[in-house]
Amino acid sequence: MTDSAMNQPFATRRTFAIISHPDAGKTTLTEKLLLNGGAIHLAGEVKARGAARRARSDWMKIEQQRGISVTSSVMTFAREFEGLGHITFNLLDTPGHEDFSEDTYRTLTAVDSAIMVIDAAKGIEPQTRKLFEVCRMRNVPIITFVNKVDREGRPVFEILDEVADALALDVSPQSWPVGMGGQFEGILDLKSGRISRPEGDSREFLGKVDHEPVPEEFAEEIELGQAGYPEFDLEAYRHGDLTPVFFGSALKNFGVAELIDAIARIAPPPRPQPSEAGTIDPSGNEVTGFIFKVQANMDPMHRDRIAFMRLVSGTFRRGMKLTPSALGKPIAVHSPILFFAQDREIADEAQPGDIIGIPNHGTLRVGDTLSETNKVRFTGLPNFAPEILRRVQLKDPTKTKQLRKALDDLSEEGVIQVFYPEIGSQWIVGVVGQLQLDVLISRLEAEYKVGAMLEPAPFDTARWVKGEAKALSDFVEFNRANLAKDRDGDPVFLARSSWDVSYQQERNPELTFSATKER
Ligand code: GDP
Repeated sequence: MTDSAMNQPFATRRTFAIISHPDAGKTTLTEKLLLNGGAIHLAGEVKARGAARRARSDWMKIEQQRGISVTSSVMTFAREFEGLGHITFNLLDTPGHEDFSEDTYRTLTAVDSAIMVIDAAKGIEPQTRKLFEVCRMRNVPIITFVNKVDREGRPVFEILDEVADALALDVSPQSWPVGMGGQFEGILDLKSGRISRPEGDSREFLGKVDHEPVPEEFAEEIELGQAGYPEFDLEAYRHGDLTPVFFGSALKNFGVAELIDAIARIAPPPRPQPSEAGTIDPSGNEVTGFIFKVQANMDPMHRDRIAFMRLVSGTFRRGMKLTPSALGKPIAVHSPILFFAQDREIADEAQPGDIIGIPNHGTLRVGDTLSETNKVRFTGLPNFAPEILRRVQLKDPTKTKQLRKALDDLSEEGVIQVFYPEIGSQWIVGVVGQLQLDVLISRLEAEYKVGAMLEPAPFDTARWVKGEAKALSDFVEFNRANLAKDRDGDPVFLARSSWDVSYQQERNPELTFSATKER
């Protein structure tokens, strides 16, 4: 960043997400980050608030039954840092359940960095790896937090080497656990040489820090560790080639303050975003942003949806007129919402990196660009090839219209993808995970009063087909029985197997069959 950019308000923003496998401790860490950031007063509140919120809406019962979180949210907190001043953190929560990975992936397009939480006993798990790959694709820098060192975990070297090998990253330990589990004596900060100590019966970190020497049995390991891994390198981290590693316990509050400090000091401020006409810099004057998520039913008293916009450039002010790319005409954003962890607040002003909730009735869609001039188009928000395809069967055949509306709405929200076959009248829905189908059926009933059943479709996967007009129309003509349109009217090849995809790809080298659709 240039010096003048350093002084701009957006330079104080840190917009990030936590990526992890379910159970690694993301919720617990989120709570502690908010507590340490001064945003909430009681631990446990994130889950409690979440539960209270969930109980309000019928379809969300699924969440309760399954004990998972379907809804993503945004949490903002701010604090002073010595030498840095006031830093504002925007933590974008990503649903941890693997069935909701598509939503999670999209959220990652809206962050500038990520915290990767790993369970010290389990190391890199499948979901961590998947999410990591998405971060890598977009060069999102990652800070690693090895959690649960208050319990028996794997040897520190083993964990560090696994991260390095599995993810092909340099790892740079910033702290080191002095023993784990029953032997746990604290966390050594490798830079300052100070040890945070457990206190009392709960063996929590309550602020006790000392310079006592590390017990001999651990000293050698720590010395070896310090010598055996690369030193922290800001450039390499910002490029996504190196991850600083912190050890801690979210439950017992170890390593959390250090983590926040690291996000404030090394995590990148808002980055330029790719658009059709080159990258858009946060220092640009024009207000631009993109929608990465649309959510209904946040407030059961209203039927509104909230579209989540990541602000990319310019200073947003309440009441401002912005043009959504899909709509083509300006809308006035009168009651934008900011997401302070205490409560939702009406935003008067927002900076690049901030997330704004925009209430609307379905005009705003995932992937839309909003801008003042309507000349910008952000790229890179993917739709993923569905892994499960189902035909939708109406219980009451007179409700076709309502069904179409519902499917269009829910696909706009990113809950499902919908495909309208060229032949036949049965619409097909595609999802990345089974749970999305349950959500679909309950929401059809609860919100649209449409009873529906899902039947197996004779297709296994879908590919977006692109190519020169003549080749494309020939292909469509020959393969009508396997073709559908997505909600934007773009052609999609419904394949019976992945073999089918390779076969068509071979026969039609002038066409591309892609598993993702970038909007
Ligand atoms: P999430 O699924 O990643 O959000 O994980 P949670 O935060 O819900 O944690 C999963 C379980 O691990 C819960 O029972 C937590 O109490 C527990 N847990 C989280 N962090 C720690 C930790 O640092 N130490 C120990 N011993 N348990 C933890």
